Amino acid sequence: MLFVLIIILYKGSSKWIWFFMKKIFRGGSIVTANGIQTADLLIIEDKIDSIGTDLYDDEAEIIDCIGMIIMPGGVEPHAHFSLPMFDTISSDNHYTGHRAAAFGGSTTVLDFTSQLPGQSLQASIANSIDQASKSAAVDYSFHINVTDFNADIEKEIRTLSLQGFTSLKVFTAYNDTLRLLDEEIMSILEVARDHGLVVMIHAEDGDEIENLVSKALSDRHHEPIWHARTRPSHGEVNAGKRVIDMVEESDAILYIVHISTSGLLKQLVSGRRRGVRVMGETCPQYLFFTEENLLQSDGGKYVCSPPLRSLQDNTDLWEGLSDGSLQTVGTDHCPFFANGKLPIEYDGDQVSIPGKELGDDDFTKIPNGLPVIEHRMALLWTFGVSTGKLSVERFVELVSTNPAKIFGLYPRKGALMPGSDADIVLWDPNKKHTISVRSSHMRTDHDLWEGVEVEGMPKQVYLRGRLLVKNNNWFGQPGYGQLLKRDGDFQFV
Ligand SMILES: [Zn+2]
Repeated sequence: MLFVLIIILYKGSSKWIWFFMKKIFRGGSIVTANGIQTADLLIIEDKIDSIGTDLYDDEAEIIDCIGMIIMPGGVEPHAHFSLPMFDTISSDNHYTGHRAAAFGGSTTVLDFTSQLPGQSLQASIANSIDQASKSAAVDYSFHINVTDFNADIEKEIRTLSLQGFTSLKVFTAYNDTLRLLDEEIMSILEVARDHGLVVMIHAEDGDEIENLVSKALSDRHHEPIWHARTRPSHGEVNAGKRVIDMVEESDAILYIVHISTSGLLKQLVSGRRRGVRVMGETCPQYLFFTEENLLQSDGGKYVCSPPLRSLQDNTDLWEGLSDGSLQTVGTDHCPFFANGKLPIEYDGDQVSIPGKELGDDDFTKIPNGLPVIEHRMALLWTFGVSTGKLSVERFVELVSTNPAKIFGLYPRKGALMPGSDADIVLWDPNKKHTISVRSSHMRTDHDLWEGVEVEGMPKQVYLRGRLLVKNNNWFGQPGYGQLLKRDGDFQFV
């Protein structure tokens, strides 16, 4: 009798346990960069087990996905959390920023290390990991910023990919702080080529910006619009072209972050036609806003670098997403309060962090950056897929699969295939939502898309099989996100 009871308890509990470890997503449209199929998807624990029709497992929880789209979790290639800038810090930390990303459908986020003058890359990596590890709510890694270069740093670069960091970033702007000389960038391109690394470039003309800023200030121009007027389009185009030429000569691999101009997009296309291994990212702000926004009374909110451009640039960048010229959409998320003197209520606390008001009397003191990470997928869906500019597969490629491939995470991330992490977004293509700072989750006091209606939102979001978001409720926690060793095969896309 006791024996029978033990067997019943054992069998009962094992089924009960499996119920939490096995899930069948039933009857949705499974979308990857390769195509669409109506099928079931079985996950076991943290991995995708199988995809097929009429999958059956009496131990699995069934998730009804009829009318829904099932896609791999978004991979956000470009974000800055708790980034010190001027006399403040970007207002989302790794927890609040990761949570906002997850609400928007992203389950992997790539941030950047910051190398202080004279600091080793290892020390900068240790700092970033220390800052993120206890608060991370989604999986994450860092691109390695190289802003102070010498022979010792070159030795360190040789070891980065072995440690799981397959990308580094350099700047042609921010003279005296972040910028490297062209000959240093050339050395980095060569060592990166030989050691399996992608070089990311922030392309603007540091010398010209410095001259124009000095002149604007001496002419007593202090308004936000001068941020854009001192960082002209041709500077981005020329700096980008210079680096593409260096990549052609060195046969390295380049990823241009936040392309804001039609001109640099043309350079990207022309380089790729010649066989140069160069890839490009743009961001929602460069698809939706223009320099005109900086003329508004709240123009400081729109200060980011590179600056917002023209309607023609917006149109051409959309075209670049449609026709395959651009490879990813990231956000460069780097939020600052519009008025950091006024506290907001956030997670039950009163929070105020100095922000855009720091530059009320001087455009050079306005912190550069915008809150956007939560809206990346909904905006691209609404204004890209719903308008016919992008196919659903292309959408998945831009927000998930390509970033995963480029940054060494594929097929663990960016894919729905047996063995991939069970990072799953159940996307409701018909759900309408009006964007507002009151309902979004980014830790800031304003939203640049306030009042914009989007159609298409995540209904449920899973990271490695665990539910993070369901019907706009949060089930994640700080510390659940893992530092990813990026050791997947690099793919030039
Ligand atoms: Zn950035």
